[in-house]
Parts: sequence; C-alpha cells; structure tokens
Amino acid sequence: MVKSKQKREHVAWRDEIQAKFNPTGTAEIRRKPVTIIEEKYKTDDKFACPFCLSQHKFHEYLISTKKGIHQGLAECPECKNKCRFTTLTKPFTPEEYADHLYGQVRTGIWQKIPFDKWKRRLYNIGWASRFWTRYKELKAQEIDETPIDKEQEKQIEMDWDAYEQSHGGK
Ligand SMILES: [Zn+2]
Repeated sequence: MVKSKQKREHVAWRDEIQAKFNPTGTAEIRRKPVTIIEEKYKTDDKFACPFCLSQHKFHEYLISTKKGIHQGLAECPECKNKCRFTTLTKPFTPEEYADHLYGQVRTGIWQKIPFDKWKRRLYNIGWASRFWTRYKELKAQEIDETPIDKEQEKQIEMDWDAYEQSHGGK
C-alpha cells in the first residue's frame, strides 16, 4: 500500500516537473495533449502564426476533429497552414523564422501566405532586416537543384525591395 502510494506521488511529482521544464515537448503532447496544452496556455495567451505572423489566441489554433481536439497539430485561423504545437509556441528569432520559412519554400509556402499583410507584420515587429539578411544567405547557399518556382521568388524579392525602399531602407 505504502509503496504504491509513494509510486503514485512520485509519478505525480515527475509529471509536474516535466510539465514545468518541458511544457511543449512532443512527449508531453502525446501523453496528455489537450489537458497539458490548455493548462499551460490560457486561452488569452496570444501566439504568432509561424507562417503568416498573424496573432491569435491559443485556442483559436486548435483543430476540432471527430475524435476531439487534434493532438499534434495547430492550424492558423487566418492562413490555414498547420504546424506542431512545439513550432507554434517556440520563441523564434528572426533568423530561425527565416530558416523555418525557407525550409518550406518547395512545399509552396509563399503561395499560402498573404504576402502584403505578412510583409507589413514582419516590418512592424522589427524583424524585416534580420529576416531578409538570413533569407538571402540561405538562398545564396542553395545547392539543391530541385525545381523551385523561380518566377515567384523573383516577384517576392522585387516586392520586398520596393517595400524596403519606401520605408527608408530598413
Ligand atoms: Zn497563419
């Protein structure tokens, strides 16, 4: 009896520790997804979409399925792109965000982001300069010859340059 009580307490203690130190780890999400998520991220906490940068309350990202809330993925209510909860809640630097987006260019990420709104947001949060520096570095390092939508990439860069110039080169 004593032993099993101790064991229960230990498990509870261990879970509490894990919840403290690893609130968004995939193991946590697999174990008790919605409970952990909802405990940790009160519904008023806002998160920026890791694609289009629009901000929404956490619960707005939850996906309802026939079996309840989707346990692994969040969906942006604006651009409808999906990502893991770990990605949604990760505090990105502008460079990490550039890496994240660049990694998805071949899946057509630019077609799935409302570009004008997005670039205003990027600028407003002060990330534009660092983001583009990193993005252009990644492009310059490109060695993979997988076909890519060059036309669209070019359009994006031209749009960006025009925007940059109209905002004093920042
Ligand atoms: Zn979005």
